[in-house]
Parts: sequence; C-alpha cells; structure tokens
Amino acid sequence: MEVKCNLFPGGVRRALTMSYDDGAEFDRRLVGIFNENGIRGTFHLNSGKLGTEGYVSREETAKLYKNHEVSVHTVTHPYLTQIPDGQVLEEILSDKMALEELCRYPVRGMSWPFGAYTDHVIGLAEACGMEYSRTVKATKAFDLPQNFMKWHPTAHHDDDLEGLWKQFLEREFEQMLLFYVWGHSHEFSRNHNWEKIETFCRMAGGREDVWYAANIEILDYVQASRSLRFSGNRRMVCNPSAQDVWISVDREPVCIAAGEFRKL
Ligand SMILES: [Zn+2]
Repeated sequence: MEVKCNLFPGGVRRALTMSYDDGAEFDRRLVGIFNENGIRGTFHLNSGKLGTEGYVSREETAKLYKNHEVSVHTVTHPYLTQIPDGQVLEEILSDKMALEELCRYPVRGMSWPFGAYTDHVIGLAEACGMEYSRTVKATKAFDLPQNFMKWHPTAHHDDDLEGLWKQFLEREFEQMLLFYVWGHSHEFSRNHNWEKIETFCRMAGGREDVWYAANIEILDYVQASRSLRFSGNRRMVCNPSAQDVWISVDREPVCIAAGEFRKL
C-alpha cells in the first residue's frame, strides 16, 4: 500500500494564493476582482497608514477583507534590518494588535517591508507570534516553503503569470503545488494595467481542481498534513489536528477527518 501526504483540501493537488501589501485604496478594486472569480488571498497592512490619504480606512477594513486574511506589514513600514530590536518588536506587535482590534481574530502572519529580513529579525517576529512571513523573491516555482518565515512567492504580478499558470497546470509531479502571487494594488493604478490581473483572475479562478486559500490557510493545512501520525506499516493513521486532511492511498484520495483514528 502506498500512502502519500500530497493533497490539499478536497483531494486536489494544486492551490492558489494571493498576497498584497500596504493597504492602498486600490485594494477595493482588487478585492472586487478576486471575489468575482472566487480567488482568495492575504492583505498585509500597515496600521499606521490606515485612514490616511490613499489608504483604506480603519472602519472598512474588516468588511472589505472579509473573504481574505488580514496580516501584519508593521505599523510604519520601516526596514526592520536597520532599527533597534525594541522597535522591531513594537512595529510588529503593535500592528498585530491594531489589526486584531479591527478584524477580531488572531493575526498570525506578515510580509517583510521592502522584503528585508535577517535571521535575527525572524527571531524577533516569531517572538511576536508571527508564524509566516512573505519575501519579495519570486521563485517561478510551485514548491511549498522550506521555512515559512522566508516564504518566497512564485511570482510578482508583472511576471509572466499566464505562462507560469500553464506550467503549473501541466506539471505532473506527485506533490502539492502552490501558485503564489504577490504585489501592491497601487501598481495597477500607476502602471495602468488592471487588465493584467483581471485576465489572470478570470483564467485562474473557478476551477474545481484548485484550492483557493489565504496564506495562513495554506500554512495551517500544511502543518495539519505534516502532523498526521502513521503506524510503521502505514495501515493506521491518526489526525490529531483540528482540520480534515486529505492523503492519497494507492493513488486514491482519502480524507482523514479532524481528530480521526483510521485503519487504511
Ligand atoms: Zn510594503
């Protein structure tokens, strides 16, 4: 019997997630495009900028990003590698707490302002409760990250999304594949290229063989998948997590429910 932990929820092998920074007012249009196409993602916000000119307001934050995840991008968007440790902690923890006040759920992820981090800064972010942080290094690949605190995306939206999406759908590897797009909504306004993201979302949305998820949902699912406990002969499995996990057994999808003990 062959057992592999290589499926996302619903037994699919592919997932798409979006990741947009800064909370500019153009997020309103971008969220609308995502919602129309059933695409989901994460918006990394600077709480110190909310409500100032060119940014979304504090009052609209919870409603606007309702189908998505709100996550930390620090209060004022400094280079975290260039400020004292205490200030790094304050920038992350105060942002987390301000966003939690608006959205009413624990905020657990972030993206690095300017993509800047060091291993030392990662330790400080983890001390504030951050479980993942996105970089700006596009890999053009579909692998899950080795280290979620250095979560490299697949592509920036200015990259060849259509070409990469085609590769993504054609790839036959027997592993979970993640397509991860990042950017800023103000770039579409500045570069007059909204049609770029509209075209991509129409093409990539609404598929039954793709799981559309926010960044934190990918992390939670991968952790649940990795937490499955198997007997030595793989005929018994236990899912100690709080969510259902899909595995393949002799190439057939099997759902191991949250908390379930199962003989395969
Ligand atoms: Zn930023």
